Amino acid sequence: MAQRSATLTREIPRWLNALLIAGTFATIVLLEIKRPLRRSRQDKVSRDARNLSIALLAAATVTLVEKPLVAPLTRAVQRNRRGLLQQARLPVALELLLSIVLLDYTLFIWHFLTHKVPLLWRFHLPHHADLDMDASTALRFHAGELVLSVPWRAAQVRVLGVSPLALALWQTITLMEIMFHHSNVRIPLAFERLLCRVLVTPRMHGIHHSTVRQETDANWSTIFSWPDRLHGTLRLNVPQQVITIGVASYQDPAELGLTKVLSMPFRPEGTVPQPVREPLSIPRTSLAE
Ligand SMILES: [Zn+2]
Repeated sequence: MAQRSATLTREIPRWLNALLIAGTFATIVLLEIKRPLRRSRQDKVSRDARNLSIALLAAATVTLVEKPLVAPLTRAVQRNRRGLLQQARLPVALELLLSIVLLDYTLFIWHFLTHKVPLLWRFHLPHHADLDMDASTALRFHAGELVLSVPWRAAQVRVLGVSPLALALWQTITLMEIMFHHSNVRIPLAFERLLCRVLVTPRMHGIHHSTVRQETDANWSTIFSWPDRLHGTLRLNVPQQVITIGVASYQDPAELGLTKVLSMPFRPEGTVPQPVREPLSIPRTSLAE
């Protein structure tokens, strides 16, 4: 029992975490240069600088706000055996696997809410307003969205009974997967068709970043693609070449400088006619080029 407890309170060594995340980011950036999926509309260097500045604020928010509240909660949940997974007393490997699957599913619900609750959408909007999508978009989350997500994260930990190790593993895998599914990497179509049966892939998530509302209202999953399959919100039939990335009301690059993106949640979103797409001949759940 002491051994079990020692394992679950462990954290991933910082150096390993940094290596995994930096390694994934660097590999994706190289592949984006070698095998781009979509044509870019904006200058990559200034876009990256802007997205990484927003990411820096986001990382500081996680360190200063989320971690001091959520890390002690994981320790208390595990010590006092609170929450579903702690009461089930499962083998360590199974508990970790179920933690990741359930955290991923409850993140799917949170992502859905960030689009449907007007206050949450205001803070999710800066992420979607990027006119191109690549690994840097994956890190471009408004600090306000991360503050608003803290009570949700705390509820996930408390209700599911998430141990410190399970949270750390899920956070690292999530970060690596969001860099992957936001990436502008052209994966051979046949391979991506197989991959998206299990995981969220670049073409799949590209559809979620479309300016067309019916396409944004699909593919909310983060790591595994099954939550979208379960809820009938999986949409794979839109070819990447026909997608305009971004938000219809923010298509002017002059409106997308660093300070404008950071102040976006505090200004009313302009109203423009919503783009629509002619019906496609490809079945909804077959992945299009
Ligand atoms: Zn979204």
